[in-house]
Amino acid sequence: MKQFKRHTVTAALPYANGPLHIGHIAGAYLPADTYVRFLRLRGEDVVFVCGSDEHGVAITIGAKREGLSPRAFVDKYHALMKKAFEDFGISFDIYSRTSNPVHYETAQNFFKAIYDQNLFIEEVSDQYYDEQEKLFLADRYIIGTCPVCSNPNAYGDQCEKCGTSLSPKQLINPRSTVSGKEPVLRPTKHWYFPLDKFESWLREWVIEGHRDDWKTNVYGQCKSWIDQGLQPRSITRDLEWGIPVPLQGAEGKVLYVWFDAPIGYISATKELRPNDWEKYWKDPETRLLHFIGKDNIVFHCIIFPSMLKAAGDFILPDNVPANEFLNLEGDKLSTSRNHAVWLHEYLIDLPGRRDELRYVLTSISPETKDADFTWKDYQQKVNRELVGIFGNFVNRVMVLTHKYFNGVVPPEHELPATSDRRKPILELYHQTHNDLSGSVKQLVACIQEFKFREAQFHLINMARTGNKFLADTEPWKLAKEDMEAVGAILSYALSIIGNLAVACEPFLPDAAASIRKQMNAGDIQTQIQKFWKQEELVSLVKPGHQLAQPQLLYRNVEDTEIEKQIQRLQKPKATTMSETKTLKPLKPEVTIDDFAKLDLRIGHVVAAERMEKSEKLLKLTIQSGLDTRTILSGIAKHYTPEEMVGKQVTFIANLAPRKMMGTESQGMILMAEDAEGKLRLVQPDHEVNPGSTVQ
Ligand SMILES: [Zn+2]
Repeated sequence: MKQFKRHTVTAALPYANGPLHIGHIAGAYLPADTYVRFLRLRGEDVVFVCGSDEHGVAITIGAKREGLSPRAFVDKYHALMKKAFEDFGISFDIYSRTSNPVHYETAQNFFKAIYDQNLFIEEVSDQYYDEQEKLFLADRYIIGTCPVCSNPNAYGDQCEKCGTSLSPKQLINPRSTVSGKEPVLRPTKHWYFPLDKFESWLREWVIEGHRDDWKTNVYGQCKSWIDQGLQPRSITRDLEWGIPVPLQGAEGKVLYVWFDAPIGYISATKELRPNDWEKYWKDPETRLLHFIGKDNIVFHCIIFPSMLKAAGDFILPDNVPANEFLNLEGDKLSTSRNHAVWLHEYLIDLPGRRDELRYVLTSISPETKDADFTWKDYQQKVNRELVGIFGNFVNRVMVLTHKYFNGVVPPEHELPATSDRRKPILELYHQTHNDLSGSVKQLVACIQEFKFREAQFHLINMARTGNKFLADTEPWKLAKEDMEAVGAILSYALSIIGNLAVACEPFLPDAAASIRKQMNAGDIQTQIQKFWKQEELVSLVKPGHQLAQPQLLYRNVEDTEIEKQIQRLQKPKATTMSETKTLKPLKPEVTIDDFAKLDLRIGHVVAAERMEKSEKLLKLTIQSGLDTRTILSGIAKHYTPEEMVGKQVTFIANLAPRKMMGTESQGMILMAEDAEGKLRLVQPDHEVNPGSTVQ
């Protein structure tokens, strides 16, 4: 394999129109992070870049739906994704965004570099325009009747019923999916990238050049694309939101998001290393790697490399280890149906369990075919493998060393075979050492081949080997007769957990930090490099070294923890099904002054009882901060009085008092209705003082 001086590693730029789910993580970010951690441990020069992809018509439409400007919309999702990546510990050197000025400049210069060579094709053509939304419609945003099978909901680029590839003008009765109106054809000028001119070069570079080193799923998709013949691709759009086409007379035109987004990798590197970014993109001694999901293969293996080639003096990706898809509980992950495990929610619901998610996602990594995540499997893998094998081994060794040697590493001398008991120990020690040395080599080899699932298997095997060593030598049985032998066994077992601490770092960084802390290990840079570069077992602590207190690495995942997650997955489907029919039309506009008239406050329910002769009303006593008052609320079918006591509620404090069934109600509690028509309290997400205003 060619030796490189440095590495540029990119992970697919996530689209800033929604939060991240585990499919994104398993597809691109976790394998990239594992690989980059491995490179850093070997002491390699590496930049790991990513950022939010913030342009395109899906952003402008999403923003419209949420009543936000495109800027506010991408700000919201960029912040959400950036925080989720940080909280989960994906170790990007930079997480940038394609709306940054450095990216505008980089993308425009890139366009100009190709434009100046007269490579682009300029063409005026008629395209569908939504007059109500004042928007040229992307193919996906036009639906109509399929001319082949008469499916009334075929998309402008493809009929999903019969699979026919279409162009919008072939649709019968076309409608805009944005307004529902019939679009009109309007002439507009665009620039096209002549992908067809790169066909013979792509054949040589991909089909001949990467036959053996690219994954078969990646290579196969590229080959079939090239074999179908390549067409010029339009690289500009009529949109307000995006990077302006840097030409005179191109007002109102922006770069197509698929042209600007991959250039974002270059801009992010520029932002990170303004003075020497070029060596990461232009020096042939640099290895460029793109980690992506399979839906992005064509863009990263065919289109972007052709763009890089056209722009001149850029390096090309050496490998693109794309993953297949991850499913969830036997069903496709879906943002629109909310069938997903959202990363930011996982981190809140299962705090302190980052390693566990990394572990399970790597162990089912969709490297060669689609994979399925289920919560039951998550629970089993964590409990059996992380708790039962890995955590258990580390903890037993730590606890035994504290028990027999007060946490001081015992002498490591090889035992003279002075008794029948000692002989087999010596053999077991040599056997274990051989097994572990083999695991280290396989671990490194698998990571280098992007086989993370198998690599992690070898990691767990090292802990298995350690467990077997302990079970076979049984130091606890020797404790009464031969403490020297116990010391030698534990000293060796401690060296195994030291190696585990180093070996698990790319996969389980939290465990790596915890073991190092428990071992009270100081600077271990030399050992780390020796392990990862020379592929040799190392020793982190010497005899006589004082260990810190043992701590459990992992705890079992309880049924209750995953039941909550499984239930959550079943709920949203009901919500989506009923959401269209339960939504009420928007009320007439009000001014901020209208709103300011309402005195909304948080109160504390101190007592609650049923109203006699009423099925609906509960009589609540509210500590409002200002006073103690009575509020009658029509929630008796949704909450029992016992459930209400102690709850925080939002209420209107200045609503005119009203008498109901002989009792005066001094305000009103705010409620929301869920998909099944059940009323739910509107509450602050943290407890606040009674009387706090809601504004
Ligand atoms: Zn059809």
